[in-house]
Amino acid sequence: MNQIDFSQLAQEYGSPLYIYDGDRIVENYQRFVNQFKVPNLKVHYACKALTNPAILKLLKSLGSGVDCVSLNEVRLALECGFEPDQIMYTPNNVSEAEYEAAIELGVHVNVDNLNMLEFIAMKYPNYPLCIRFNPHIMAGGNLKISVGAIDSKFGISIHQFPLVKRMIDRLNIRVEGIHIHTGSEIADVEIYMRGAELVFSMAQEIEGLEYIDFGSGFKVPYKEGDRTTDIKKLGRVFSKRFNRFCEAYGKELTLRFEPGKYLVSDAGYFLCRVNVIKQTTACTFLGLNSGFNHLIRPMFYDAYHQVENVSNPAGDKKLYNVVGYICETDTFANDRILSEVRKNDLIVFHNAGAYCFSMASNYNLRARPAEVLIYQDQHFLIRRRERYEDLKQTFVDVAVFEQENLMPA
Ligand SMILES: *Cc1c(COP(=O)(O)O)cnc(C)c1O
Repeated sequence: MNQIDFSQLAQEYGSPLYIYDGDRIVENYQRFVNQFKVPNLKVHYACKALTNPAILKLLKSLGSGVDCVSLNEVRLALECGFEPDQIMYTPNNVSEAEYEAAIELGVHVNVDNLNMLEFIAMKYPNYPLCIRFNPHIMAGGNLKISVGAIDSKFGISIHQFPLVKRMIDRLNIRVEGIHIHTGSEIADVEIYMRGAELVFSMAQEIEGLEYIDFGSGFKVPYKEGDRTTDIKKLGRVFSKRFNRFCEAYGKELTLRFEPGKYLVSDAGYFLCRVNVIKQTTACTFLGLNSGFNHLIRPMFYDAYHQVENVSNPAGDKKLYNVVGYICETDTFANDRILSEVRKNDLIVFHNAGAYCFSMASNYNLRARPAEVLIYQDQHFLIRRRERYEDLKQTFVDVAVFEQENLMPA
């Protein structure tokens, strides 16, 4: 983990600014893979968490593969040097054309509905497929990020396994893997193991598997005292059970995971400046030079991000509501105790590596921030700040409103 000089970075690159600690990502990756004692382990970084090519290349250098949920993510991964064999395409509700394009590119594809399974099996009879099942395990901290529950749109219901099995046999589908992803923020190892047992019981009945992919959803701490996934325990329990399954199956399969948040969340910082300090009868607002256009998790998921005043760490403690500049209520954090804040102080949000920049938008016609990577005591600009010109690029001018007698007489 690097000591970060926020004021120097703000001076050099401006603010708001996303900052990623590359060495922390390396630590996270290594800590993760070291927990699993199995003959074959493969991690596919879920790149929707943070899609910058520098991050993809860093993870590639560590031996990671990549999990992509859109064709553009697949294209970017290929351009970053990942081999098609290192790329898993796990989309939801995309068109046949997208699946076909992914198959043409030769990446692994993960099929998450029965119609698509049938379509691909007919059109590409020899293409190896992964099948995504929904184990209907209700898990995760927030309905918006729970993807395994009974009414979730993801995957093929495990209750339809008999039908899937019939299709596999009748259409001679080459199933190379099966997959579950029970959602984000699962703290409980027991929940993983329950999902795993369901997967093993299906895997037992499918011949020729190469791997089983248990997705992700590892919970990371956002504040002190948060429950988190005990990765050590998970590794111990999971490895033992997986090896036992492989013995019963008669083949050393590859154990796969697709962590996103676990690898990059705590490596990210979002640095803002205080534009306005407004005292009302109810509270003191800190108005930042940013809003939910840049960091939407607090507003969208009620996510807690630790906030710190890095310009005045020794100041007296005071109570603040931290808000944005968007013309809508955009509250980053309520009732936070920070070292006394002065106008123009630098405020940093922690855990800003996952689903922060990648969910940023141009709402209010505002530009998205720059991104900086710190790696082995050096820092690199890995995305320049957007400009007004960038935002206008896709507008198409029409002449019709430029006629003089547009208004009815
Ligand atoms: C989003 C996603 C992940 C990553 O989830 P995290 O909670 O960020 O680890 C993994 N697999 C799939 C299929 C996903 O959609």
